[in-house]
Order: sequence, then structure tokens, then C-alpha cells
Amino acid sequence: MAASLGNIKEKVSAGAVLTRADAELLYRDASDELLSELATVARNRRHRADAATYIVIAIVNYTNVCVAKCDYCSFYKLPHQAGTYLLSVPEICAKIDALEALGGTLVSFNGGFHPKLRIHDYAAMFRELRTRYGARMEFFEMTVAEFMFTCKLSKVSYADGAALLRESGTRWVTGGGAEILDDAFRRRHSPGKYSVEDFFSAQQAILGAGIGSTATMVIGFDETLDERMNHLERLRRFQDESNGGLTSFLCWTYKPWNNSLGGNEVSVGEYLRWLAICRLFLHNIKHVRTSVLTKNEEALRGLKFGADDFDLPTEDEVTQKAGATISHEFEPILARARQEGFEPILRAPFAPALGFEPTMKRPESVSHSATLA
Ligand code: SF4
Repeated sequence: MAASLGNIKEKVSAGAVLTRADAELLYRDASDELLSELATVARNRRHRADAATYIVIAIVNYTNVCVAKCDYCSFYKLPHQAGTYLLSVPEICAKIDALEALGGTLVSFNGGFHPKLRIHDYAAMFRELRTRYGARMEFFEMTVAEFMFTCKLSKVSYADGAALLRESGTRWVTGGGAEILDDAFRRRHSPGKYSVEDFFSAQQAILGAGIGSTATMVIGFDETLDERMNHLERLRRFQDESNGGLTSFLCWTYKPWNNSLGGNEVSVGEYLRWLAICRLFLHNIKHVRTSVLTKNEEALRGLKFGADDFDLPTEDEVTQKAGATISHEFEPILARARQEGFEPILRAPFAPALGFEPTMKRPESVSHSATLA
């Protein structure tokens, strides 16, 4: 049967899996109101209708040295250029302490493809940080893309690299470095960042070692709808193949300042429409997160387009260099969630989908009067 908005609506009400043609039709033809309505049906099947969870997070960029040369990146420096840095452990700790003072409990590390950092260096650094902070802080220790680079550089397989990290205490890697998981897109913009199949083989090795991981997507470069759908389709298949191994999905928007690609940022309206498509198409990913980092308070409108969770970021040089603005005034952001009709609930980091529980507790005292779940 040819897809129509009417039968897609029935499928969503019945909890049926949408086809690619359904998603494309929705994206092209559905009104904002219909997308919001359908994404809310799908969201509320798995989450409280009147609440959204959030966490305070620092994205710590421990190095800006990178040899990948993605044309959309505003952050990296080549090793010989002026202004490179590689933070020491005390410098990283100062950032973590600053996060803790703001009520934060999660650090997501994101550097570049540093040509001198081997997998053992990462393992040693993260072991030291985990020992120092114990159960007070959770760490997302690198992105999948960085993991791939350092494994290749260190001449270890992804399976061996992931096992080494796990033995050193790593619990999480993020699905960062995905952007658009389409090989034509990657050849155009980030040929140093590996093929789609290579990316998913690294994800598989990470999950196989008992490390949690996530799914990400960035929109707003020059990607086509076909390329976006290739990303979602491959991701959904991986999630099926890994028995729901990826814990959450975060989509954010490309920031076009200070890089060689340039262009224009996608509007909030476009972001919300795409967020709804992601919630509806990715039926097998429980948590869909909206990006305060790139859309500020407007991101909270995403809770009406399928998202159930958000970050309050305290720093991220990568996106700040590209034009993102970060506020440590959390109350207006939380107030916006309430204004949209959702009680914001401070949470601990999600438990990875692989069977081990978070060791940390939610903070007992935070300065932004959040409700603890
Ligand atoms: S996006 Fe990441 S991998 Fe690409 S150049 Fe920037 S730091 Fe390097």
C-alpha cells in the first residue's frame, strides 16, 4: 500500500514500525502540528508525558590537535600549527571540579585525532581520573571516531582496543564522530573519518566489550534527505542487530562559523521537524535527546517533538568555536521546559543498555533547584 499521512497516523497509533517511505512522506508533507502530535504519541509510549529528564554535563576537549581535517570543523589545529594544546591531568581535573561546582555529574571527553596518543595513553589517563573521582562523576571517555583512530594508530583491533579500555575501567564511549553516516557525505567532508561500515564495526566492538555507547547525528551541512535517511536506516538496523545496544540518540545542528565549509545554520523549526522524524523512525532507541548546546532554550520545544531528555552543558570548545553559546544560568532553561509543559527531572547518567547499573548517585545538592527523580 502506498504511504499516506492517514495510514502513517494509524501505524503510529498502533505502534507499528515506520518504513523509510513513511518517514520521507512525513518529513515532506506533514504539518509541524502533525509531526509534533505523532512524535508525542511515540514518545509517551515510553516516557512520562509531563516530565523530561536532564543532566549537567561538561564536554571536555582535552586536545585540539587533529589530523582528520573535516571541512565543517572550527576547532582543530594541525600538529605543526600555533595554538595547539594537550591538557595535563591536573588541567582536566580543574575542568571537572568546575563542573562539579555547577552540579554536574557527567564529563564527555572529545578531542581530535591526535597523532601521538595511543590507546594505552587513553586507558592510563581515564583510569587515573576514575580513581580520583570515584562514583561522584561519570565519564564518556572518547568518541567512537577517536577510538577508531587511536586503535589504528596503535595497531590494535577494535576488539582488543575496547577490551583494554574496559579492563582499565571504561564504562562509556559516545557515538560522536557520526555526523551523517553516509559514505558519499563522508567522502565530501571528512574523508579521514572512516566509512560507515567501519564506524559500526567499531561500535560493535565497543558494545561487545561491555562498554556502553550512544547514537548521534548532526544535521545542517549540505546533506540530502536521502543521506539523512541512510543514516537513520543504518542506525536502526545496527540497533536491531545489537539487541538495543545503544542507549540514547542525540541530534544536534551544525554551526557554520569559523570553518572552511561555512553555510547557514538550520532553523529551530527544521531541527524540530527532523527530531520528530528521528523519534518516529528510531522506534528501537528509548531515549531521544534534544540539543540545548546548539539550540539553547529553543531546544526545549523538542520535548513536544519526541525528545524525552536534554543536557545542560557547561562547556564545549568544539561547538563554541563554531558559534554555540553556553549559559551557566540554568533556571531560564529549566523554566522553558516547564513552560512547554514538562517537569524537568535531574537524573544520573543512563545505565548502558548492556546490563550494568550506574554506580553513581544523583547529586544531593545542586544550585539550580531541580527536582530529583
Ligand atoms: S570534527 Fe573532530 S575529527 Fe573532524 S577535524 Fe574536527 S576534531 Fe578532527
